Amino acid sequence: MESATRNNALVEKLESRSIKPTAMRLLVLEYLVQKDEAVNLSDVEQHFKNSDRTTLYRTLKTFEDKGLVHEIHDLSGSAKYALCADDCSCAYPEDVHVHFYCNSCKKTYCFPDRSVPSISLPDDYHPVSGDFVINGVCPTCRN
Ligand SMILES: [Zn+2]
Ligand SMILES: [Zn+2]
Repeated sequence: MESATRNNALVEKLESRSIKPTAMRLLVLEYLVQKDEAVNLSDVEQHFKNSDRTTLYRTLKTFEDKGLVHEIHDLSGSAKYALCADDCSCAYPEDVHVHFYCNSCKKTYCFPDRSVPSISLPDDYHPVSGDFVINGVCPTCRN
């Protein structure tokens, strides 16, 4: 894609979630779009070596607050983030979907089109969000 066109698409993606498109946010979004696995704060820091850690953290948190990314908790122990689908509103249980954590390469994959069946809870337990992570071996590590 031509770079101006790509940049417009990124600006639109931010604006569709009411996020002001600053240069930093556009760069972080571009990075997330290119990744096919979820990323944690250290991944983002390593990619943007000259940027301040707090700024990067705030950028991810803004994305999360506005529903552009969702947080995933896997066995790695550090929170990871993946882009939300355009029609995602991070609602429970409609937008809860499967994540896959590879025990070998420690990567986490997001499968927005694999929804999770709604689980009935005991009376008076009010669900707000849910994490669904399956552990195993990814195709790259199997080969
Ligand atoms: Zn793997
Ligand atoms: Zn996901």
